[in-house]
Amino acid sequence: MKKIALVAHDRKKDELVDFVKEHREFFSKHSLVSTGTTGGRIIQATDLEVMRFQSGPIGGDQQVGALIATDEIEAIFFFRDPLTSQPHEPDVQALIRLCDVHKIPVATNTATANLLIKGMKK
Ligand code: PGA
Repeated sequence: MKKIALVAHDRKKDELVDFVKEHREFFSKHSLVSTGTTGGRIIQATDLEVMRFQSGPIGGDQQVGALIATDEIEAIFFFRDPLTSQPHEPDVQALIRLCDVHKIPVATNTATANLLIKGMKK
């Protein structure tokens, strides 16, 4: 089974946690991976199993990217903060670029995320 990746920048973590709680049943049917801090927050807030990588700024985004490159990721929910500069901006760009290279759906906000879930349920 391919995995779903969950990543949120600091100011978007609450939004992603709420989103995952709202769609708990959907996410419980999938294998989940996450960057370190985001994964910790989701585990804390739900009883979902999440495989956690390093924190994003120290390599977690690249670890998710590696799974895209080996065709192990089905979709990414990547709630980015468009208003705060990130120290690991190159990694953020690289992750989104790899999604485009491998045609992996990536939702960067709740509006797209809701549509993506609807699409994946079909
Ligand atoms: P984090 O990483 O979940 O460890 O905070 C997310 C990111 O900023 O890429």
